[in-house]
Amino acid sequence: MPSSSSLPTMPVIAIDGPAAAGKGTLARRLARSLGLPYLDTGLLYRAVGRRVLDAGGDPTDPATAEAAAQRLEPSDLDRTDLRGPAADAASSAVAAVPSVRAALLAFQRDFAAQRGAVLDGRDIGTAIFPDAAVKLFITASLPERARRRWQELRDRGEDVELARVEADMQARDERDSARSAAPLRAADDAVVLDTTDLSADDAYAAALRAVVDRLPALSPQH
Ligand code: C5P
Repeated sequence: MPSSSSLPTMPVIAIDGPAAAGKGTLARRLARSLGLPYLDTGLLYRAVGRRVLDAGGDPTDPATAEAAAQRLEPSDLDRTDLRGPAADAASSAVAAVPSVRAALLAFQRDFAAQRGAVLDGRDIGTAIFPDAAVKLFITASLPERARRRWQELRDRGEDVELARVEADMQARDERDSARSAAPLRAADDAVVLDTTDLSADDAYAAALRAVVDRLPALSPQH
């Protein structure tokens, strides 16, 4: 991974929130319509967790997780096995290791350096880009987020129980929020958007309004 930790002066839109709140869909759509590059930062932690699992290692072991983060290649993000319960748990375990987070910092900042970017994750507005022009914190109730993830899994042909999906999601949220390294939380200056009762289109419209209010020079291309 390239290393530089300079903060970009290009427009950065930081989108944080818990699992399955709808931030990925929103971020991708905003990036497309604003003509900005998009990075799903969860993939970085997923790819590190996957490298540890592949080597038969323990994702909670800091030295093992850090070594995997340092060996990460951009092409790891294209792997097709980064989703699913094992990858979910491994990603959130490696994400609690401060040296893993430090190893992934430059990649995230460099990504936005040329043209700005929309990035989604857990700590984009609090740690990676504390000066981002726009910060959105996307949330929804736990039962609704679990229902959405369960539906996604079923649509992919996976036979899972809703209660199991909800329990795993709650455990991951708690680990992400309780860790000392860059815990999941809304930045003080973030716009909080609760999507529990919003359609994807309504959530997108509200997010776009927040972006254009803060960055009037950016206008949707379609
Ligand atoms: O967003 P996604 O669910 O793919 O993220 C997987 C895991 O990676 C999260 O549960 C969290 O532990 C970690 N993560 C993080 N910081 C980010 C993005 C993801 O700690 N910016």
